Amino acid sequence: MTSTDPAGTTGAEPLLSVRDLRVATDSAEIVRGLSFDVALGEMLAVVGESGAGKSLTARALLGLLPPGLRVSGSVRLEGVELAGAPQRVYRRVRGRRVAFVPQDALSVLSPVHTVGDQLALAARSVRRLGRRAAWDHAVAALDRVGIPDAARRARAYPHEFSGGMRQRAVIAMATVNDPALVVADEPTTALDSAVQAMILRMLADLREQAGLAVLLVTHDLAVAAGHADRVLVMYAGRQVESGPVGRVLRHPRAPYTGGLIASLPRREAVDRRLPVIGGAPPHPGALPPGCAFSPRCPAAADACQDREPEPGEAGDGHLAACHRLGELPDPVTDLFQATPGARMTPSEPVQESR
Ligand code: SF4
Repeated sequence: MTSTDPAGTTGAEPLLSVRDLRVATDSAEIVRGLSFDVALGEMLAVVGESGAGKSLTARALLGLLPPGLRVSGSVRLEGVELAGAPQRVYRRVRGRRVAFVPQDALSVLSPVHTVGDQLALAARSVRRLGRRAAWDHAVAALDRVGIPDAARRARAYPHEFSGGMRQRAVIAMATVNDPALVVADEPTTALDSAVQAMILRMLADLREQAGLAVLLVTHDLAVAAGHADRVLVMYAGRQVESGPVGRVLRHPRAPYTGGLIASLPRREAVDRRLPVIGGAPPHPGALPPGCAFSPRCPAAADACQDREPEPGEAGDGHLAACHRLGELPDPVTDLFQATPGARMTPSEPVQESR
């Protein structure tokens, strides 16, 4: 089943438009044909297990891949093609129209300069500002991300900030020149849950105040559920499901998404064993034939080993890649709760209720 638009969207050109994005080494393809859009002011969460290719996708968008990796496909930001563009094109947009927030704040901040100096320098690299104006701009950026007493804190060094404050400072650095899009790669993973919630709320506030769009890479479906407008679920370098976050999480149609949701801890089921997706994701250089999820999928049929499923329409901008779309229960979480660990052949009836 295929859709007319592989990103599931139509209409005017979005802020970011990605088509058939691929990232490969000489021996293996790691990101395998992603297509998605991000609209102005929208948050798209890219979700999946470790090794799904999420972080490489984020870095590929910004031209920040490690040496030895090749990119193909199309990455258009505000109509400008970036995929395969020379570094001078990336330098024109990075920090100005698109900014990166990595997981590790210390990899961005220099330990030998004050936080305010680093932000002021970032502001002056793009704007014609005198020293005083750049400093004021830096303080305003820190204030915007909720750093208390920003004028005083701007004079501190990164090691004098807590982990949460450092990550806020990195977001201030990313947004100091008012980019249209922030790509955030697991920005809260190293932080405790209260600080994590604060940072994600702050990103949401920036979206409301400044119309910022955010592409959020996370392994945590609950984070996507709480903050994103749309979600894209990746497995083995491919998109298995995408669409409005409420719709995808309430009615997942791809078994992999169903497995992820079924294994989320629930308050009402603390005394019950959680279903798990058996096995482990495949290595990019040793993918199984057909659907890459087939060795772990409780609904795998013989046809699943023949070819990879393409994203198919599941309604209202919701796409799912599964050969058995339309045959499986809605939601597919039931596959994992009804028959944990077992395989179901196409001729077996699908259990509709728990
Ligand atoms: S049913 Fe088949 S195509 Fe669908 S996820 Fe399972 S193995 Fe893949």
